[in-house]
Amino acid sequence: PAGFAPELARRDIPILHRTVNGHPLVWLDNGATTQKPRQVIEALAGFYGSANSNIHRGAHTMAREATEAYEAGRAAVAQFLGAPSPDDIVFVRGTTEAINLVAQSWGRANLGPGDDILVSTLEHHSNIVPWQLIAKETRARVVPVPLQPDGQVDLDAYADLLSMRTQLVALSQVSNVLGTVVPVREMTALAHRYGAKVLVDGAQAVAHFPVDVTDLDADFYAFSGHKLFAPTGIGALYAKPDVLEKMPPWQGGGNMIESVDFTRTTYAPVPHRMEAGTGHISGVVGLLSALNWLTSFDRNAIAAYETALTAHAQQALSTVPGLELLGSAPGRVGVLTFTLAGQDPSRIADWLDRDGIAIRAGHHCAQPALAHYGLTSAARASLALYNTPEEVDKLVASLQQLQQLQGRQGA
Ligand code: PMP
Repeated sequence: PAGFAPELARRDIPILHRTVNGHPLVWLDNGATTQKPRQVIEALAGFYGSANSNIHRGAHTMAREATEAYEAGRAAVAQFLGAPSPDDIVFVRGTTEAINLVAQSWGRANLGPGDDILVSTLEHHSNIVPWQLIAKETRARVVPVPLQPDGQVDLDAYADLLSMRTQLVALSQVSNVLGTVVPVREMTALAHRYGAKVLVDGAQAVAHFPVDVTDLDADFYAFSGHKLFAPTGIGALYAKPDVLEKMPPWQGGGNMIESVDFTRTTYAPVPHRMEAGTGHISGVVGLLSALNWLTSFDRNAIAAYETALTAHAQQALSTVPGLELLGSAPGRVGVLTFTLAGQDPSRIADWLDRDGIAIRAGHHCAQPALAHYGLTSAARASLALYNTPEEVDKLVASLQQLQQLQGRQGA
């Protein structure tokens, strides 16, 4: 029968077979970063072991090979995102750098006094602060779009806030705190009626379900490789060709020029114009390997598996006394942020760690989203395709024990 078996993924991922504090590792911190398949680790070792070279400028075999690998990575990212051409893809360090690039390049060229940048309240700080920085410089305004009680973006408020002043709308496709899947396609269509551009932060989306930027009609789409089974330090920005074409350079240096002269310097065509300096070549090699690994599975089957696993987790967590799950928007992904009555989130994380279970505690770089629930800190378990119902049950059993202990101490 059609379906996805997490064991198929698990057997490729060496780290999932280690122990922590005497227990088999249960990695439920996938929202922070994902674990790496052997194929990705071997691709990195293979690059440095037998293929290392700088790219583009070399007049030798290995420079040509490295250039081909780098550009193959770009083509794979374009295909992965449904982008029309590899030229629409800029390599960056990650989502944060992608958004800063757009803010500093597109933003500086296009924003001015009286302009609005609409930013949803569930955004990660990396989709808030770059806009605040450029707004300050250009005297534009950052306008928050409120949330509904269930953690979905308030679409009526959004429609009211949009105006001819709106130049840009910045949205996460998936919230890294609430697991909300934001209807970015519909919101983009609405923004375009006002001539606004839309940037979609796909950091928490790409690992969970197939994405098609052409279908979304997003002007910009950003993601981080490390949340997609690839190494840290590499990510990608998609930009619509007519938008990218007009964007001025944001960093200057090698690789991004056509010719340099003290009287006049000209720039390379995009995407190279946006990639000053030596890129993260091995990172691209690793990203290519991760995309090949992920797409070797049926991605719709993965999404269906994760949906079922998330439903199981929600149901099981609801049996823990005093546990409150944040966000209840339908169709969420497996980002499960919660509070536990009487427990500090960092104590919850410490307790689980003793059982080899890794979750995250804190503000998750999304303080406004937590403030929406009157919180400054919470615990978060975040699932990936390689997690199993048994792992979720271990999490729940450990939380049950913590609450029993607290009940005894309180009695
Ligand atoms: N946006 C979202 C929704 C995220 O979850 C994260 C990472 N937690 C980021 C942006 C930033 O990603 P990075 O740190 O890889 O640049």
